[in-house]
Order: sequence, then structure tokens, then C-alpha cells
Amino acid sequence: MKLICPVCRLPLIRDGRSAHCANRHNFDYASSGYLNLYPKNRKVHGDSPESVKARTAFLNTGTYAFLQQELSDVTHALDPDVLADLGCGEGYYTKALAGREKYGFDLARDALITASRHDHDTQYVLSSIFQLPLPDACVDTAVTCFAPTAGDELMRILKPGGYFLCVTPGPDHLFELKEILYDTPYRNKVSDLDVPFALQKQYVIRQRSLLDRDTLLLLFRMTPYAHHTPSAGMKRLEETEQLELTSEFVIRLYEKTR
Ligand SMILES: [Zn+2]
Repeated sequence: MKLICPVCRLPLIRDGRSAHCANRHNFDYASSGYLNLYPKNRKVHGDSPESVKARTAFLNTGTYAFLQQELSDVTHALDPDVLADLGCGEGYYTKALAGREKYGFDLARDALITASRHDHDTQYVLSSIFQLPLPDACVDTAVTCFAPTAGDELMRILKPGGYFLCVTPGPDHLFELKEILYDTPYRNKVSDLDVPFALQKQYVIRQRSLLDRDTLLLLFRMTPYAHHTPSAGMKRLEETEQLELTSEFVIRLYEKTR
């Protein structure tokens, strides 16, 4: 196990249902299997249980299965010994990624419960991605899918020659949904990432799928649109029987050069 104590940064040793360092700082595994390495006195700011529930149900429809497959293919080609997924959520992508030793980090407890119940090949950890309980230069491949980019931590945890795989929404991602919700929908901007690595590859994958109303509402509840949609837009969405929708993702692969 590569994980280190978040208090004193010494290696952690597993001991049944808990893990401890040489200074006897002690951390518990949840019954579902994830390890809680978040400071006990600090408030957790993960995704809300409602948004996690909607996202899990939406992902289970298979609408984003083509992205899961793409990330699986890319990581299998890289063939990492150690892989870390920063902002892993319910592990929908993590479980498909390659890696002899895999870690998934997130702050959403409900997502980690689902993740660790369905994927026993990954150690899921409740932790901020901006203060990772990992030693320096121990990760071969790091992945971030729709989560903020933790540039400094990526620089620290990646081995020289390691890879960072990043997924962000493409310009046309969910555009037809935004046309329903807003009078003036905007395309997503694809901006450069603030990471000190060499860009090896950048490409876009997209798929159009026909979604029924229930699936659309799940998707809506897991997006940021759920928090700022005018009531006219909300009404139009509720009246939509089905929608042909574009899912579009920008995939970037960076290398931490030696
Ligand atoms: Zn310690």
C-alpha cells in the first residue's frame, strides 16, 4: 500500500478494519471498504447525496459507456503499475482503468460507498485531491475526469515519465439540453490546463444518443445547470418527451518529462 498518514506523512499499515502509521495515527475503513483519510474535525465538501444518486443512476444507463471504454483503452496501452484517479466519484470510470495497484480519491462519501462496493480492485479513499495521502513520485498514471485539476499535487505524486490523463467537456457537450434550458445557450470553452507537463495527445470523442425524459432529468440533476436554470427552461425540460443529445469529451494526455 502506497498511502501515507495525512497527519505526519509516514507510511500507513493496514491492520484489519483500520490503518495506522508509526506514530499511531489511526484511520478507519468504512464497512463498504473505502478508507477515510480526511481530517476528522473538518467539514467535507463533496458532491451532495442527491447529485451523486442522480449521477450513479444516469451512468448506469450506459450513455457514457463510450467514454469509459476510451479511458480503459488509453490506460491499458499505458499499462501503469500504480494508477490514481483524482475525483473518482462512484468509480464508474475508475473500475475500467488499467493498473496493478489502483487508488480513487474523492470527497463524496455516498459516491465512495458505491465505488468500493462494486470495485474491489481499487482502494477508494476519502480525501481532498489537493492534499493527497500519497508519497512523492509514486504514481505512473494519474487520471482526472470532470474534476478540478490539482496541478501541484500531480507534479508531486507522478513519477518522472509518468502520465496525466484528463477529461473535460467538449464545446458541444449537452448542447441540445442547454438549448432547452436557456434562451441563449453557450458552447463550452476548452481552455488550456494549468499543468507543468508536456501535452502528448489531445482529441475529441463524441456520441449522439436518444434519451427519454427520465434519463434527461437524471442528467439534469447531476449537472451544474440544476442550480441555475430559469423556471421557463425547467418547464420546457419537463415537457420534453425525448431528446437526441450530443455527449462530447476532450481527452488530453500529458507526460511528466524526466
Ligand atoms: Zn501519522
